[in-house]
Amino acid sequence: MQNYLDKIWNDCLNDLEDIISSVGIDLWIKKIKPINIEDDTLMFIAPNEMVRDTIIRGYTKQIIDTISKNFKLSKFDFVLDSNKEDYIKEHKLLDQNKDSLPRAITNEEIPENPFNPRYTFSNFVIGSTNRVIYAATRAVAENPGSRFNPLFIYGGVGLGKTHLLHAIGNYIWEVTKGQKSIIYVSAEKFANDLIDIFRSGKDKGTIEFRKKYRQADVLMVDDIQHIRGKKSVQEEFFHTFNDLYQAGKQIILASDRPPKELSELEERLTSRFASGLVQDIQKPDFETRMLIISKKIELNGYNFEESIIPKLAERLEKFNIREIEGVLNKLDLYAKLHGHFIVDEEVMGEVLSKSQELDESVGRVVTQEKIIDAICNKFNVKREDLFGKKRNKELVEPRQICIYLMWKNLNKPLSAIAEIFHRDHTTAIHARDKVIDLIKENAEIRKMIEDLEDVIVH
Ligand code: ADP
Ligand code: MG
Repeated sequence: MQNYLDKIWNDCLNDLEDIISSVGIDLWIKKIKPINIEDDTLMFIAPNEMVRDTIIRGYTKQIIDTISKNFKLSKFDFVLDSNKEDYIKEHKLLDQNKDSLPRAITNEEIPENPFNPRYTFSNFVIGSTNRVIYAATRAVAENPGSRFNPLFIYGGVGLGKTHLLHAIGNYIWEVTKGQKSIIYVSAEKFANDLIDIFRSGKDKGTIEFRKKYRQADVLMVDDIQHIRGKKSVQEEFFHTFNDLYQAGKQIILASDRPPKELSELEERLTSRFASGLVQDIQKPDFETRMLIISKKIELNGYNFEESIIPKLAERLEKFNIREIEGVLNKLDLYAKLHGHFIVDEEVMGEVLSKSQELDESVGRVVTQEKIIDAICNKFNVKREDLFGKKRNKELVEPRQICIYLMWKNLNKPLSAIAEIFHRDHTTAIHARDKVIDLIKENAEIRKMIEDLEDVIVH
C-alpha cells in the first residue's frame, strides 16, 4: 500500500510542480506524505499545524485536481505527525506496512521555520517609498555577508521593517533548507535574556549566551533602539557584533530612528556602518498605498469593489501599513456583519464617515491638546503666549503652524479654530495659507511640519 501511495503521490508532485511555484512546493507540499486512503479521502501526514493549515488555505484546489486525476479520489485530509502513532494503530496500518511506512517527519530532520510565513518578499509590495530598501534586503538575502554589511534599516512604526527581516529569514531558510543559522531577535529579548543571565550570576549562562549568538551566520536584531541606555547590554551587543562582523557574517539591524539618534551605539559602530548600508523606509505614497490595498485584498480574499481602492488610498493618507491593514479588516468585517456582499462605496461611507471612531480603532486620535503640546515642545513656547496677544516672530510662526495643523487634523472649521486663538476668521485664513505656501516652497519647513504631524498622530 505504502509503495503504491508514494508512487502515485510522486506523479501528483510532478503535476503540482507545473501549477505551484517551486517555493510553494519546497516550503509546503514536500513536507506532507500520504499515509492512507479512507473511502474517497487521501490521508496525509503533516509535520505540524502550520503546514497543514497553509496547505488547506493555499493549495486545496490544486491538490484536489491532481489527486482526482491520479488517485481518482475527491478529498484529502491530514493527520498530524504528533498523532501519527495513534492513527497507525487505530487503522491497523502498522502490521500491514511495517517496513514501508513513511519515515516519521521529525523536527530534527526538518527544523521548524521560525519565520512568519506571511512576511515574505513576494508578499511585500514595492513602491517608490521602499524600493531601495527592498533591493538591499533582497541582495543581502541572496548573498549574506558579502554586500551591505551591516545593513541598517530605519523608519517609523508599521512600515515593513519586521516584515523585511522575516523575508530575509524565510528566503535564506528556504534556500538552505534550514541549514544556516539565522538568528532573529528583538533588541528587547536580547536585553532581557542577558539581564536574566547577569541576575542569575552564572558564568555558564554568559558563555552559552555568547555561543548562541556567535555561531550565527546571519544575525538580525529588530527594534535596536531598545538597547538605548542599557550599558551592559550595549557592551555585549557590541562584542557580538564585532565577532560576527569580523567573521564575515551578515548583520541586519532595524530601528525606528537613524543611527545618529542612537548616539551610544553609533559612536562605537560608526566605522562599521560606513562599510555597510544605512537605509530608511518611508510612509507609503498614494501609488504605493493603492498597490498595498490591492495586494492585501488579494491575500486576504476580501471582496472589494475595484473603484473604491483609489478612494481608500486617498482617505488613508496618514496611515501606516499596519493601520491600513486594520481598516481593510474593519471594512470587510462590517460588510459581512451587515449583510453586504461586497465592500463598496456605501460600506466605505458608513464605516469611514465615523472618522473619529475609525481613527480611534487604529489607535490614532488627534486632539487639540496634542497639537498644542507638540507645538509648545517643538518651539519651546508657553501655552499662554501661543494664545496671547504678543506678535513677535518667535510666537507668530508657531501660532500659524498650530492653526494650520488644527485645520488639517481636527474636523473643525477654520472659524472655530480662529476662536480658540481669540482671533478673527481672516487672520486664521491668512495663517493657514501662509503655512501652505511655506510647505510648498521650503523643504526644511515641510519636513519639520511632517515630523510634528508624526508626533501628534501617534
Ligand atoms: P514595522 O516593523 O516597521 O513596525 P511591520 O513589518 O510589522 O512594520 O509591518 C506592519 C504590517 O504591515 C505587517 O503586517 C506587514 O506585513 C505589513 N507591511 C508593511 N510593509 C508592507 C509592504 N510593503 N507590502 C505589504 N505589506 C506590508
Ligand atoms: Mg517591527
